[in-house]
Amino acid sequence: MSFIDKKFAETFGQSPDIIAAAPGRVNLIGEHIDYSDGFVLPFAISDRTYAAVRVRDDRKVRIASVQRRNKIVEHNLDAIKPGLKGEWERYPLGVIWAMGPTSGIDIMIDGHVPLGAGLSSSAALECSVATALNHLFSFGYSLEELARLTQKAENEYVGVPCGIMDQSVSLMAHAGSALLLDCRDLSTKNIAFDVASSGLELLIIDTQAHHSLTDGGYAERRASCESAVAKLAVKSLRELDLAQLEQSQNLLTNTEFIRARHAVTEMARVMDAVQVLEAKNFVALGQLLNQSHASLRDDYTVSCPELNVAVEASLTAGALGARMVGGGFGGSAIALIHAAHTQATIAVIEKAFAENKFKAPRFFTSLPSQGAQVIQRG
Ligand code: ADP
Ligand code: MG
Repeated sequence: MSFIDKKFAETFGQSPDIIAAAPGRVNLIGEHIDYSDGFVLPFAISDRTYAAVRVRDDRKVRIASVQRRNKIVEHNLDAIKPGLKGEWERYPLGVIWAMGPTSGIDIMIDGHVPLGAGLSSSAALECSVATALNHLFSFGYSLEELARLTQKAENEYVGVPCGIMDQSVSLMAHAGSALLLDCRDLSTKNIAFDVASSGLELLIIDTQAHHSLTDGGYAERRASCESAVAKLAVKSLRELDLAQLEQSQNLLTNTEFIRARHAVTEMARVMDAVQVLEAKNFVALGQLLNQSHASLRDDYTVSCPELNVAVEASLTAGALGARMVGGGFGGSAIALIHAAHTQATIAVIEKAFAENKFKAPRFFTSLPSQGAQVIQRG
């Protein structure tokens, strides 16, 4: 009996009908452009969130999480709607609201993706529940449809205006590959991302910083991009290249211009990254990571001292490249390093954090892993 089976039985007194798992993600490159219809290049990490679910013969919905002391939160299926007060359980409730199961359910969650570290534990949670419900109720939704539904859950039910990237990669990723995702139509291409055979490793540095700006800051960046799009009379920033944007600079405020410049140059960097990955040119990939970080720091202004120190210390220690990942204002950075230098790099970063009197960072490494799966049917 697996751990989550046991927790389900202890909490709900029966066995689950199904267990599904969905991973967190790291975005290799293509940050803050999913909502501008851009291309992004994330991969799924090996850490995943498990959802064990059992169908009930009444209208009750009961949810518990190992990471929330197995405490049961209970609702009536017919009363689940946006605006309902709650805490973490709003993520699975949002998925239930978006998918509309035909009867009550019991759900046990066990998440192994670090929470709030910019590795998208929220998408892992949503996608594990969505995958379980899709099979349990035979909805037959495609992965694209599940991505849209789980994004809708986070946008409209939880109230976080996230783009489509996190849910898409958690659902669609393949082991050994990064996922080139076109955020306009959710078409994908797997791009082999095999750092290990070149003696390299992708180090994930969780700065443990969470600056409270996050939510408002994210909305403000999106709003700047949207107002730039309106003023430039284009459908999305996807339609522009840097030269065209620079020609229209006089139509924009300085803030709109630099936000749009990040989006436009980051989209070009994603395309460049695909090319250099196909050529296994990791030196060039490192340079693209550095350029991405500079653009996020200087044009999009979503970095923070902890992220900048993590990046700079990684480069000091000999990384090929490094950048902040995720929404910003805290969370994680990634560094492309020589696998033989992992411990030395960690030591340099730890020392830099201590000197700056920052909270000690946490470190992870991960190979590109498989997306959401049903792992057990009762
Ligand atoms: P990230 O997605 O980067 O980890 P978010 O703030 O978007 O950060 O999502 C983290 C939130 O998701 C947590 O605060 C919690 O509400 C919820 N969550 C994620 N995983 C779990 C879990 N295993 N158990 C309970 N809540 C979880
Ligand atoms: Mg999240």
